[in-house]
Amino acid sequence: MKIGVLALQGDFAEHIAILRSLGVETKEIRTAEQLNEIDGLIIPGGESTTIGKLANDFGLIQPLKDFGKKKPIWGTCAGAILLSKDAHNDQPLLSLMDIHITRNAFGRQVESFEIDLDIPSLKKIDPSNKPYHAIFIRAPLIESVQSDAHPIAKLPDGRIVAAQQRNLLATSFHPELTPDDRFHRYFLSLGQPT
Ligand code: GLN
Repeated sequence: MKIGVLALQGDFAEHIAILRSLGVETKEIRTAEQLNEIDGLIIPGGESTTIGKLANDFGLIQPLKDFGKKKPIWGTCAGAILLSKDAHNDQPLLSLMDIHITRNAFGRQVESFEIDLDIPSLKKIDPSNKPYHAIFIRAPLIESVQSDAHPIAKLPDGRIVAAQQRNLLATSFHPELTPDDRFHRYFLSLGQPT
């Protein structure tokens, strides 16, 4: 299995480091042709308007949409915004997931925070299901999920911060910035036959 990380802008290097530590073959993705070489793709955190604009300039929007119809894609933070149908902003989106997003949902004063979350889906990876320490940086909120998209992580007040729709995964937070690799292993499991 070879996993690509969209390397237009943002913290793609951190995702690549975790994947390598798990013994996974990785590839930085910058062109449509490179998508043919990989079995799954991560879209990293960064600035969603910039990543979307560069993807548009590089002719990647339609190839990424086609990729997500067949293979797993995981978007973290800005990547989650790109996967959404609507982010209340005029910016290029892949519109692959039936989720609506509020960007920078936690306000300017509290742009970053960390919190332990209970994420039952991770039991598949580690039955102990210890709390997941999530890092939020100018994070978006998943304000609603439709169709067969479903929440997989919520804040204690019920607001949705991770969702899954079949082979597509969106997290508001940054699993690539913690030593806990359960989310990366969970994503890898989406590409395996069940
Ligand atoms: N605030 C950024 C955006 O709206 C996302 C932040 C991040 O990826 N850490 O695109």
